[in-house]
Amino acid sequence: MRIVFIGPPGAGKGTQCKRLASELAIPHISTGEMLRATKGESELGEFVAGYIDHGNLAPDDLVMQMITDRLSQPDCCDGYLLDGFPRTVNQAIRLDTYLSERQQSVDIVLELVVEQSVLVERLLARAQTENRIDDSIETIRARLEVFFRRTAPVLDYYRQRGMIRSIDGSLPPESVFQAIRAELNLPG
Ligand code: ADP
Repeated sequence: MRIVFIGPPGAGKGTQCKRLASELAIPHISTGEMLRATKGESELGEFVAGYIDHGNLAPDDLVMQMITDRLSQPDCCDGYLLDGFPRTVNQAIRLDTYLSERQQSVDIVLELVVEQSVLVERLLARAQTENRIDDSIETIRARLEVFFRRTAPVLDYYRQRGMIRSIDGSLPPESVFQAIRAELNLPG
């Protein structure tokens, strides 16, 4: 199964994706993690940090290159869970093109819905425990603004195609996970 998982920063996307991918035994592909992994002394790392450290999206061309390299690896042939990708309508269209050239398509899009005030609270709490450079108050605001401006249209793109399943992400993590399982008709 090819699953796209979309949710605003702080919705709990990473936690749910890890668990779901492990239950389905498919690769968990997080573009955020891939981009953070470029960090270091390299030129690419500095280039990427110039975007993500300020809460901005990395350029579509770079992200598409990374993701298509990853999707062409053999462990992806039976499906995968995409976490944090696509984040722009351009990325969604390019993903569809890449897949249709291979007679494939996204099977389902899971959307995690959480009210904005709850997101800010959660992100601030995480900033104190995880020390992620993109978790400062200004960057949190920027990431939320970028999500609603650039990624919310991706939800509309999939909604028009009848592919979206929305899940209430304000519930405790275990309840969220059970709601996801129910949407996917997973047994037990
Ligand atoms: P979160 O969803 O909590 O913001 P992620 O780990 O998904 O965290 O992403 C961290 C950062 O990586 C984003 O704020 C953005 O700068 C960058 N990023 C991740 N995925 C993409 C993408 N598909 N396109 C462009 N930039 C991305």
